[in-house]
Amino acid sequence: MLPETQKILSITDKTAQKLAKLNLHTLWDLALHLPLRYEDETHITPIADAPFGQVCQVQGEVFFQQVQFKPRKQLIVRIKDSAGTPLVLRFLHFYPSQQQQLAVGKKVRALGEVKHGYFGTEMIHPKIHSAENTSLAEHLTPIYPTTAGLNQSTLHRIIQAALTHLNHTETLPESLLASLNLPPLMDSLRLLHNPPPEIAAHTLTDQHLPAWQRLKFDELLAQQLSMQLAKQKRFSGSAKPLLGNGQYTQKLLNTLPFSLTQAQQRVIAEIQHDLAQNHPMHRLLQGDVGSGKTIVAALAALTALEDNNHFQVAIMAPTEILAEQHYLKFKQWFTPLGIEVAWLSGSLKKKEKDAAKSALADGSIRVAVGTHALFQNDVSFQNLGLVIVDEQHRFGVAQRLALKNKGEDVHQLMMSATPIPRTLAMSFFADLDVSSIDELPPNRTPITTKLVNNIRREEVEGFVLKTCQMGQQAYWVCPLIEESETLQLQTATETLATLQDALPQLNIGLVHGKMKAAEKAEVMAKFVSGSLNVLVATTVIEVGVDVPNASLMVIEHAERMGLAQLHQLRGRVGRGSAKSTCILLFAEPLGELSKARLKVIYEHTDGFEIARQDLNLRGPGEFLGARQSGVPMLRFANLEDDLLLLEQARNIAPQLINTQPNVVTHHLDVWLHNKKDFLTA
Ligand code: ADP
Ligand code: MG
Repeated sequence: MLPETQKILSITDKTAQKLAKLNLHTLWDLALHLPLRYEDETHITPIADAPFGQVCQVQGEVFFQQVQFKPRKQLIVRIKDSAGTPLVLRFLHFYPSQQQQLAVGKKVRALGEVKHGYFGTEMIHPKIHSAENTSLAEHLTPIYPTTAGLNQSTLHRIIQAALTHLNHTETLPESLLASLNLPPLMDSLRLLHNPPPEIAAHTLTDQHLPAWQRLKFDELLAQQLSMQLAKQKRFSGSAKPLLGNGQYTQKLLNTLPFSLTQAQQRVIAEIQHDLAQNHPMHRLLQGDVGSGKTIVAALAALTALEDNNHFQVAIMAPTEILAEQHYLKFKQWFTPLGIEVAWLSGSLKKKEKDAAKSALADGSIRVAVGTHALFQNDVSFQNLGLVIVDEQHRFGVAQRLALKNKGEDVHQLMMSATPIPRTLAMSFFADLDVSSIDELPPNRTPITTKLVNNIRREEVEGFVLKTCQMGQQAYWVCPLIEESETLQLQTATETLATLQDALPQLNIGLVHGKMKAAEKAEVMAKFVSGSLNVLVATTVIEVGVDVPNASLMVIEHAERMGLAQLHQLRGRVGRGSAKSTCILLFAEPLGELSKARLKVIYEHTDGFEIARQDLNLRGPGEFLGARQSGVPMLRFANLEDDLLLLEQARNIAPQLINTQPNVVTHHLDVWLHNKKDFLTA
């Protein structure tokens, strides 16, 4: 926090540090730090009328107090209100000061949720106020998100100071607000921080309240402005056009055992068009599992290299297994063209890593394939021109930025099998061009999906045996155990042992996330070469693995998995000429959501349709999860409910950028001062 801000608020360094933990650095940050909810301490409910399971405030006199030790140490207090109705107040943690406050004979107010308890009707850990000579609150009490050591009243006081200082400031032109029928910003903030006496709690949390609409609009506008500015900036950029001359791409195409699908040809043309511009490409290539994105990536890389070999290309994938597969593919394709490919992953020995790094730094190798290792600080490129990120949603924005920033005005190609929902494409990814491969390569055998109750597991084992005896191979995916990696590993080992017992005729291997990369690679190599019949795997094989001879996929406890995950897993089979099957084992009882998901995956094979249904089941928030995409969440607006506001913000943004640059700068400063970079990645 700036010293002058701290002075205005008259707070200590220590408090400023606490605020920093909440990401509150400026007066505007404080003003926009809105209550999570409100507590109603404006009136007293007779204990007899207190609604079960809802928060309310009661008042009474203490007539009993005892510290009990069984079943555990707790403070039991009994009060009685003026009508004589008793209520138990129970505290599992308490201080001597609380015991004093709740001494027999004291009149107190207790705010909490009334429940049926062991000791009778009770409140656990209610908020206690003395009722001696204190009048009731006049308005609702805002409750803010806070951090240890910063209590509600201090935070409220600091926010008040910020509001007072900002007083009548307005960030947007009046005419604009009038046309959208939105209230002034400061009025909206004051209402939400200091609700007037007559307003009820449920009115304040109603998202249609004009005050909330105003905040949501402002938030979406900030996001649109920053996206559209990022786009302008990109277009005024000075990237070197990468004009391929076909010398490598043609040669590779001639040696491929297949010809490109129409869709692949179209997206390559789109990518090559982008590469030929003098501003950096920012393109997402989306295509269903198995649609053939890898060859498109390879052709993009070759186009960049054809340009007099000035530029370097980095291809990054989120897992060792996937990155290594890419490495092997690229090496197989590029070596005959005389192009060397470097391999960089966290598991390399120091000597090998150093060799790869120096070859990339001095430019003697022009293509790098790798994992997260690629964007570490100690990796540099002589002249990075193109970055390709596979399964891009698996990387955080900061990670993609870190790689891109290893060159100047670098062209970016991102790839994903999970299509972006329209609302997100419109908002968060507004500065993203999208190419879609909407056609699978020919001669794919459709995959038959079967839902099988886990109690029929033996039949499934028999089917595995039959499949492998016909010369094909199978994946057996272990149940997902999100809570514990140790448990996950244990389950995987058990699954392996059970299968080996049941199918002694077969060679069965195991690959899991905790294995060393070299071990993983060894097992994968055995499976690829066919010396293993069955590969037992945790979901590490989810992305990108390509073994055409594998025609059977068994997924245990499929009911625990998400739709995107199931679809990706299923996509590992059906890549060769044999008829393929995916068996989804499920265990009863099934929850509603699990049932719905299994139905979708059973009925549909088209990834785009599955993603659409997934969106219906989960809502778009999930796609934005920071874990997946690294895009900061919207705080107030919600893409499902606020589409109209989003469209308004989207339409108004260019107008403001053109006519009122000062308004734009200020608005962005208020809303995004510390995350501008993130939104433009
Ligand atoms: P994904 O889009 O899931 O990354 P891949 O690039 O791994 O898919 O391709 C899946 C498989 O399809 C690979 O074995 C690849 O060689 C093959 N393939 C790609 N394009 C074609 C095509 N046009 N015709 C036939 N096979 C293809
Ligand atoms: Mg792939």
